[in-house]
Amino acid sequence: MITPSLKTWIALVLLLPAASMLAAANPNWTTPIAPFQIADNLYYVGSKDLASYLVVTPKGDILINSSLEGSPPLIRKSVEQLGFHFADIKILLISHAHFDHDAGSAEIKRLTGAKYMVMDGDVPVVESGGAQDFHYPQDLYPAVKVDRVLRDGDQVRLGGVALVAHKTPGHTRGCTTWTMRAPIGGHLRDVVMVGSWNVNPGFRLVDKPGKPASYPGIATDYEHTFVVLKGLPCDVFLGAHGEYFDMLAKLERAKAGAGESVWIDPEGYRAAVAERQQAFEAELKRQQGGA
Ligand SMILES: [Zn+2]
Repeated sequence: MITPSLKTWIALVLLLPAASMLAAANPNWTTPIAPFQIADNLYYVGSKDLASYLVVTPKGDILINSSLEGSPPLIRKSVEQLGFHFADIKILLISHAHFDHDAGSAEIKRLTGAKYMVMDGDVPVVESGGAQDFHYPQDLYPAVKVDRVLRDGDQVRLGGVALVAHKTPGHTRGCTTWTMRAPIGGHLRDVVMVGSWNVNPGFRLVDKPGKPASYPGIATDYEHTFVVLKGLPCDVFLGAHGEYFDMLAKLERAKAGAGESVWIDPEGYRAAVAERQQAFEAELKRQQGGA
């Protein structure tokens, strides 16, 4: 990875809003990658790290994650490279309401007319273009009207495919882990797309005098999220960022001959959930200790 010079950093800080700065500092967010197939009806159409998934059905397609405001052309190119039509996207979903997963939604809706379905806790953030976010109210992007408000456990159905919305809050109030059953090599597999399990720098998990928690109940929400994630049956381990599931390394192995089987990684899923839970608990302890 190229380290920007001090001069570049100063220019970035002066000229760009926080969101663009982050994108500039994460080149993998905007670097294209050849789209690839994960299951018979499931494809990766994101960048090198910002994951977007296309679920293909006979009644039209579902896109998960619109990513950055500038991402739709990259996503569109990937969809078309696979031989699908962008206009066939009927439903747009997101992992959670942060600008790296939802800022392109206005443009995707404009181009496809897709119905936008968002978990209840994230709706105010999406509909205010990021202004209602508890930690990043300065990371603004085009506001979008939500067509269907989702509740924990709701199903999104199209053309014989059912995606289940599991509310896994903490990282955002409506952070969503999507699951579906998808065929790989003649076997139906349990697919998990982790919404997020990270405590970002600056998130306050504990109420302190003059320094309230980032939002009331955030620590309990994270605890609930880990219970949910540990309970999900998982064969195919995916997530909102490629780095959650070691995508680039797995892709190398897939290209080297392992094929789609690299995405079947129940042990990797369980280990990653356990590692992230430990990280959360350590951070909670640190904040409770008054550090
Ligand atoms: Zn996020």
